[in-house]
Amino acid sequence: MTAPSAHMSAVTGTKINLVGLSREELEAELKSFGLPAFRARQLWHWMYHRGATSFDVMTTIARDMQAKLAERYTIGRPEMSRAQQSIDGTAKWLLKLADGNEIESVHIPEEDRGTLCVSSQVGCTLTCKFCHTGTQRLVRNLTAPEIVQQVLVARDKLGEWPAPPDGRLISNIVMMGMGEPLYNFDEVSKALKIVMDGEGIAISKRRITLSTAGVVPMMKRCGEEIGVNLAVSLHAVTDEIRDVIVPLNKKYPLAELIAACRAYPGANNARRITFEYVMLKGINDSPADARALVKLLRGIPAKINLIPFNAWPGAPYECSSDEAIQVFGDIVNAAGYASPVRTPRGRDILAACGQLKSLSEKKKRSERDAVAAS
Ligand code: SAH
Repeated sequence: MTAPSAHMSAVTGTKINLVGLSREELEAELKSFGLPAFRARQLWHWMYHRGATSFDVMTTIARDMQAKLAERYTIGRPEMSRAQQSIDGTAKWLLKLADGNEIESVHIPEEDRGTLCVSSQVGCTLTCKFCHTGTQRLVRNLTAPEIVQQVLVARDKLGEWPAPPDGRLISNIVMMGMGEPLYNFDEVSKALKIVMDGEGIAISKRRITLSTAGVVPMMKRCGEEIGVNLAVSLHAVTDEIRDVIVPLNKKYPLAELIAACRAYPGANNARRITFEYVMLKGINDSPADARALVKLLRGIPAKINLIPFNAWPGAPYECSSDEAIQVFGDIVNAAGYASPVRTPRGRDILAACGQLKSLSEKKKRSERDAVAAS
């Protein structure tokens, strides 16, 4: 005899989660259950346009059919185990996955947009020296459902179902949370296709940016198969320095990375590649570095995003001075590149880049850093 609770979870466990299946997979799954293709379209609409979390709200589906679906399938979400709100409006949400692992998504509201920062892995293998996530061991890749669910849960939380065509609270997505998305290409690609589908969540590829530390062999496929905007965590202009701060550089050195950027499908002046550059005092922030950066990127449709380093306890670096960031930005600007300084958001709730589990030592900096140029 099984204990009642174990029995319950086994029953739940046998249900098939429809969230995260591609349209084709959804159709095939329903077909195997004896249901025609139009049911797949109906479910897609309810799951991704209306945000249904159960079958019984699906008023275009008859009661007995709702019950039949609910016996075999689920469209549930992971539990939100914690929600934190920053004084600047940024929200950080901790989601508990079915296997007990936890991941974070961050919502960053701005005047003209709202951006959801989505994770691709639990932890990360890259060990970038300035990133706190890099000090945690990788637990595993996220599945496509778990990536899509981050968007669904965010819209639930913001009450944005169905989402209006304009002025959305979640208008943009950045694959810049925990993990390296190009180390989990298949699941990220599948998830983003669901997110981009015009009859569902409907966030266009032009409003999605995928950030990579430079997994060169996957970059072309990213452009061809997903077609989203690319951001590259460059952070240094010589192999000598980049080898140390982004160890992936030893595998894919700068020359290969830059060549892959030049060849990135779809990059043009209207769709520039973003180069992220974390400002580390005395490491990569000199005027000579800025000039070398301009030279390195010559001919690439690029914008350069300067990121003030977000410190964490035990971090081996300090953030560059405001003056150094200003001088660096001016040189890059004078060469014709936009070089906005990324305003740190959500530092008070540890939601800024690289701060997932650490306490900010420089909360006051958020005000000083708000001198974003564009
Ligand atoms: N693995 C991907 C996705 C992470 S995106 C990538 O490396 O691009 C997160 C961005 O924040 C990256 O550009 C990363 O280098 C940067 N980052 C990490 N830790 C940081 C910190 N402590 N301060 C500022 N930026 C940081």
